[in-house]
Order: sequence, then C-alpha cells, then structure tokens
Amino acid sequence: MSDGFFIDIAMEKTIAAICTAPGAAGISVVRISGKQALELAAKLCPSQKLKTEQGGSFFYTTLRSPDSGELIDEAIVLVYRAPHSYTGEDTVELQVHGGHVSSQRILKELLALGAISASAGEFTCRAFLNGRLDLSRAEAVLDIINAQSERAGRIAAEQLRGSLGKRVDEYHSLIMDICADVEATLDFMDDETSGLLEPINIPERLSAFIAAVRQLASTWRNGQLLREGALLVLAGVPNAGKSTLFNALLGQQRAIVTDIPGTTRDSIEEQLIIDGIPIRLADTAGLRETEHAIEQLGINRSKELANAADICLAIIDGTQPLEQQLAQLKSPDFIVLNKVDAISEQEVVKLTEALQSYGYEEPVAISAKTEAGLTQLRKKIAAKLQTQSAGNEVVAVSERHHKLLLAAASAAEEALSLYSDGLEDAAVFCAQKLRESAEALAAITGKNYNEALLNNIFSKFCIGK
Ligand code: GDP
Repeated sequence: MSDGFFIDIAMEKTIAAICTAPGAAGISVVRISGKQALELAAKLCPSQKLKTEQGGSFFYTTLRSPDSGELIDEAIVLVYRAPHSYTGEDTVELQVHGGHVSSQRILKELLALGAISASAGEFTCRAFLNGRLDLSRAEAVLDIINAQSERAGRIAAEQLRGSLGKRVDEYHSLIMDICADVEATLDFMDDETSGLLEPINIPERLSAFIAAVRQLASTWRNGQLLREGALLVLAGVPNAGKSTLFNALLGQQRAIVTDIPGTTRDSIEEQLIIDGIPIRLADTAGLRETEHAIEQLGINRSKELANAADICLAIIDGTQPLEQQLAQLKSPDFIVLNKVDAISEQEVVKLTEALQSYGYEEPVAISAKTEAGLTQLRKKIAAKLQTQSAGNEVVAVSERHHKLLLAAASAAEEALSLYSDGLEDAAVFCAQKLRESAEALAAITGKNYNEALLNNIFSKFCIGK
C-alpha cells in the first residue's frame, strides 16, 4: 500500500497478483480478489461455472487471451464466493504451470481488463478489513511465511489460530469491566447510597491484570529470538579452535582453519538451528594484543559482537596456558574447553577446577577437531537460550505487541496508584487511565487502527499475500 491509501476507495477495486515465488516450480498461482473477480476470470476462461454456480468450486479449463483467443495455459480454477474466501471477497485463484511465463501473461491480461496490481500484503489487509482476521492473526501470516525454524512456525501457527488475540481480548474485557466499575462510582458520587455501590476489589483486580499483561509482554524476548534468531558468538584467543568449532557446528567447511594465529581477520556469520531456535553463528577474529592495524579492526569488531551477543562462548585452548587466555575474555556466558583430544583426562579435570576457582561455571569439554562433546555443547546452548526466552510458551509477542502491552500495563499502574491515593476526582482520572490501557490492548488486535498502522504492518508482507 502506498502513502495516501484510502481504504474505502481501494476496497472497491479488484486486485490481482501472482501469489507464488518466481522460478521453476510445479505450479504458479494468480489470485484475483474483489467485486469483479469472477467477471474478470470469466474473460480468460468463459466457463459457465464462474457465472452460475453458488458457493465455492473448482474446475479444469484452458485460459485464452480475451483479445486474440490465443491459448495461454491449462489451469485449475478455484472459485471462492464472498464471504467464504481468504479476503472475505469474491476470489478466484488460477493455478497454472510454474515458471514465470504463464502467470505473468495472465496477470498482464487481468491488469489490461481493469484489475489493479495488488500491493504487498493487500490480500491479508483486506482479510483484516473485512473482519476475517484480527490484526494479531494477520501478523501471524507474515510470521509463518518468514519462520526460520519449526518452533517459530509452530508459535506463528498458534497465533494465526487466535491464541494471542484471544488472550488480549480477555485482558481487554477485564480492564473494561474494571473501568465500568470505577465509572459507576462517578455516576453515584453524589448519591447517598454510593457506599453500597463501592466497586469490589479494584486494587486486587488491577494488580492481577498488570501482572498478566506484563507476563505476556515478557514473551517478547522469545519472539525476538524466534523471529530474528539468536546471535551466538565464538570468542577466544587466536588458534583456540574457533573456526574449527564454527565449521563443526555448521557441518561444513565455511571458515578457514590454519595453525597460523590471526588468520580470521573479519568475523563471519552463518545460520543454523539448535533445538528449534534459529541462530546466527559468528566466528570472530582471535583476541590478543596486536600492533597490526587490520587485525586490530577485526579484534574491535569481535569485541562489539561479543557485547551484542545473545550468547558469547569463550573458547579456551586446553593445550595452552589458561591465564593469558582468560585475560582476553570479558564475562562470557560460558566456557568451552577445546582440544581435549590433545590432553589427558587429568588435565581436563585440573583445567575445569582452575576455571571454577576463577568463578566460571563448569566448562563444556569438547574437541572441535574430533567433534567429541558437541552434542553436550548444543544442549547447553539450547538450555541457555530457553532460559533467556520464555521456555515453552506458545505465545511470543512481537516488538509492536510488546510496546502496546507495556503501555497497557503502565496506564493500569497509574490508574492503580490514582485509585489507591483516593484523592478527590481520583476516580475520573483513574477511569481515563483505564481507558488508555484498554486502547493500547485494542491496537494489538486492531479494534483500533489507522492507515499508518496498516501501512506499517502490511508493507512488510510480500506481494500476493
Ligand atoms: P582459531 O584461530 O581460534 O579460529 O583456530 P582454528 O580453528 O583455526 O584452529 C587453530 C589450530 O588448532 C588448527 O591447526 C586446528 O586444526 C587446531 N584445532 C582446532 N580445534 C582442535 C581440537 O579440538 N583438537 C586439536 N588437536 N586441534 C584443534
């Protein structure tokens, strides 16, 4: 949707787009939605089924250019009549052969017939505007498309089913009930019987509401990890075995491994998934004192990455003195004791005890070279990420939801403090804050929305969704 998109006017138009990704594939789908969807489709395949049948249907046909009658492709045509479609409008989906030629040709014909090219996310935006989905469910569609792991996909699917919207609606009702009770005291303020109408347990109900909303907001961290991936940084002195471990975790020879210290000058990043959590794994330049300007740049970058990391692993070379290596490290999340294949078991015990005496938790002993201990390491990384995220929560709110939930909680906190002060007119201001809190919640599900909000959300979608 472009700036200045007028929802009502735009909704009058019939839109069309290719819904499938370009490239060689079995099928490609062109979707048409709007009042003229069936009429336009009928111009490409003059089938009676588009004119006469009621309800949804599908059929096989050939598609021809309306002008020349030239054959374009064979197709399966799916007809959805309003309101029983994704968008809630009359919709036709033309399934043609994959590759871009047929679908592009069909789209071109439809545009020439008067359809408008759909903007990014416009089908889903229409579904929202037509009441088929609340905003949190519409956003989940994008999360499913972008999911990088099964776990992210599962949480997005739960949100699409309405898990988040339902919870937010419950909290919205709770705050509206409290608000109604507080407002009732206003109506009867001057009434002799006002004592009888004193609302019950307002502070307790508000406190429970705030705790619940804050708890839901805390699932944001989980959502962020699942949506964006966790940054896992491998730090340590040159030759500790960072690149070897990087390759071993990835299962491919991505980073250069040599025994020449200072080979990794720049950090490299790759994606992997551990326990359903997408991870951006970063190999960094070895940390040491250097006079070399380019190496120093790499080291600075390593330090920046270590600071930004969700998890920073310090790789210690078990064959080298400990103290010099520890001197280079700044509060890693945990220590990986590498090259245990090259030292005795007694050495491993001695090093473990030494590390613990410096205040570090028990290191994970591995050999990046033989891959011994890697399963244990993956488990430890997963456990650290689980504690950072909200564990097995099936809801993981986005940054937008997080902000709105915090706004709802803070407004409710202000309402609580006003109410507890019990000053004159407190109920008036308290009710005002409670309405603010309810409005923030309503913006999550889209009970309140404006064009800017819709633009912001749906412009992140792909065209055709
Ligand atoms: P980096 O500078 O920290 O990235 O270290 P590299 O991964 O480039 O490894 C430096 C040297 O240590 C190379 O010769 C590797 O083969 C060797 N190395 C790495 N991991 C192990 C290990 O677990 N055991 C043994 N014996 N050698 C290793």
